[in-house]
Amino acid sequence: MHKKERTLAIIKPDAFESKCVGQIISVIEKAGLEIINMRLLRLSNNEASEFYSEHKSKPFFPDLIEYMTSGSVAVIELEAYNAVNLYRDILGATDPSKAAEGTIRKLFASSKQRNAAHGSDSTASAERELQFFFG
Ligand code: GDP
Ligand code: MG
Repeated sequence: MHKKERTLAIIKPDAFESKCVGQIISVIEKAGLEIINMRLLRLSNNEASEFYSEHKSKPFFPDLIEYMTSGSVAVIELEAYNAVNLYRDILGATDPSKAAEGTIRKLFASSKQRNAAHGSDSTASAERELQFFFG
């Protein structure tokens, strides 16, 4: 049985700097993902650290937190059939030089860190991340 699923997208600070927020939302909508909920916010150090806690021991963690708190982000709840995998597909690989043509990261990311957007990597992550931002 097919059942609609939800996932979390975050448009990251570099996308606000490069003024491609609207274009990213357009790619999301054209892929058939429905916007259910959306908020603009500035993450605190604590919020960013908790959100990315799985990466706490990685060498890039301090840089990641500095970057994610450097400006506005848009947190977006999305819905579709197979939303988690569908959105990860249109998001593209973490490293934009490895991302497929037409993906958000291929089109709009500038580096492996400044990669334009986030997407939940599993239905369990989606549940946790949606709870984190939307309760
Ligand atoms: P994602 O699920 O594709 O976003 O990738 P990860 O969960 O592995 O990493 C989370 C975020 O940390 C990425 O989206 C990047 O912004 C950043 N990141 C991941 N790997 C690296 C890295 O090797 N170097 C740096 N500077 N940032 C990284
Ligand atoms: Mg991830």
